Amino acid sequence: MSEKFDVIVIGSGPGGYVAAIRAAQLGLKTACIEKGKNGGTCLNVGCIPSKALLDSSYKYHEVKEAYGAHGIATGDVTIDISTMMKRKDKVVQQMSGGIGGLFKANGVTSLAGTGKLLAGRKVELTDAKGEVKILEADNVILASGSVPVNIPSAPVDGKLIVDSTGALEFSEVPKRLGIIGAGVIGLELGSVWSRLGSEVVLLEAMDNFLAMMDQQVAKEAQKILKKQHLDIRLSCRVTGTEIKGEEVEVTFTDKDGNEQKQTFDKLIVCVGRRPYTQGLLAADSGVNLDERGFIYVNDLCSTDAPGVWAVGDVVRGPMLAHKSSEEGVMVAERIAGQKPMVNYDIIPNVIYTHPEVAAVGRTEEQVKADGDAYNVGIFPFMAVGRAVAADEADGFVKMIADAKTDRVLGCHIVGPSASDLVQSVAIAMEFGSTAEDIGMTVFGHPTFSEAVKEAALAVNGHAVHMPNRKRK
Ligand code: NAD
Repeated sequence: MSEKFDVIVIGSGPGGYVAAIRAAQLGLKTACIEKGKNGGTCLNVGCIPSKALLDSSYKYHEVKEAYGAHGIATGDVTIDISTMMKRKDKVVQQMSGGIGGLFKANGVTSLAGTGKLLAGRKVELTDAKGEVKILEADNVILASGSVPVNIPSAPVDGKLIVDSTGALEFSEVPKRLGIIGAGVIGLELGSVWSRLGSEVVLLEAMDNFLAMMDQQVAKEAQKILKKQHLDIRLSCRVTGTEIKGEEVEVTFTDKDGNEQKQTFDKLIVCVGRRPYTQGLLAADSGVNLDERGFIYVNDLCSTDAPGVWAVGDVVRGPMLAHKSSEEGVMVAERIAGQKPMVNYDIIPNVIYTHPEVAAVGRTEEQVKADGDAYNVGIFPFMAVGRAVAADEADGFVKMIADAKTDRVLGCHIVGPSASDLVQSVAIAMEFGSTAEDIGMTVFGHPTFSEAVKEAALAVNGHAVHMPNRKRK
């Protein structure tokens, strides 16, 4: 007799582990299968370790570059990379261990091994010794995540050419660091190693910087990052790489179509991620993939096989941990008979450079393309007392509202604590807020968040701490 569960989740990343916990909370007998460590990409080789390194490197940068202005003399400042890495590993361990604790507390059965979906909601579990068990469930949730995209012109060797995982493990600061792809990962890892002393060159194929972001915010971010010595080269296509001893020579065509060569001590390839479905589905599982290799699901994360669901990076939509978790909760609650939905229109998005870049809702380019009439309010951090006092006055808040209803359509921020500020606007948008509503809300003073209030006021020409644009 095979063991039977109400719900089996395959994968324990932020999609899978959250789905498992929620299902167990709702009284369902739940198992979660994981072949690696609990927490998936986010906790083990993504969001959490990269934030640990971003914080360590920023502290180092601040002590070296920013303390002097406050009258703090520090003398010679050094950084021990091995201590920094050990701290990062400890953070990861703590967070990953926390999931095990949450599984226990909620009664989720944690199963180590590789899961494969068979026909009829059966799951084959192969453990590390190669022993195979067949499990059964009323519902199966696939949450197998994503892996880095490889390009033939720069094959990862794990030594000189690495992907985002390898770039979290350097044992010393590379003098010359090349990065293919100036996307989210390229900018975050580029910031880490640049602060620690690397000369960083980012080769980006697109003509526009951060093409998916509001372009006014992207341009401001580009200006600020350039001042931080990130050498971002747009319209550059990498055509080949050659390992020459301890160096890697990269060949690329520049924006004028000329072939160029540049030599680096390390090269990071971060040109996107792809859904991970290798070995996940038996031929007769009934689950289909779309033309890009994602598991095909409807708006409710239901696959083509009855009782089989899929969430997170392995399905359509932005590859963001919080999007995965929301889908996990939605599916668990739907299995339990509730009727929640994920609001895909209001998913915040953050890039953890310094300052941070954050967005929620539609960009000005998208609103324009949709043909909607709109108003924009912009407020610079330079006019925010708290930001000036903290030496964090770069950037601005941009709010976009519908011209007829004044409803907030989007908010785009480059500036201090942008990740947290954008969240307040996301809450407002969930409640269908107008720009006027936000403008009428009392914000504490002095806070960075006053820039949000003032940008909302600026939408209707009422900002107080700067001259408003004349309206026609
Ligand atoms: P990305 O899509 O953000 O950026 C990849 C970049 O590489 C793009 O700008 C693309 O134009 C460029 N590119 C593609 N092929 C190229 C080539 N041959 N030569 C030069 N440039 C090329 O992807 P990423 O940075 O690898 O991140 C992967 C995923 O992980 C993203 O979906 C991202 O949202 C997610 N992620 C999120 C966070 C966060 O939320 N803070 C952090 C890290 C990763």
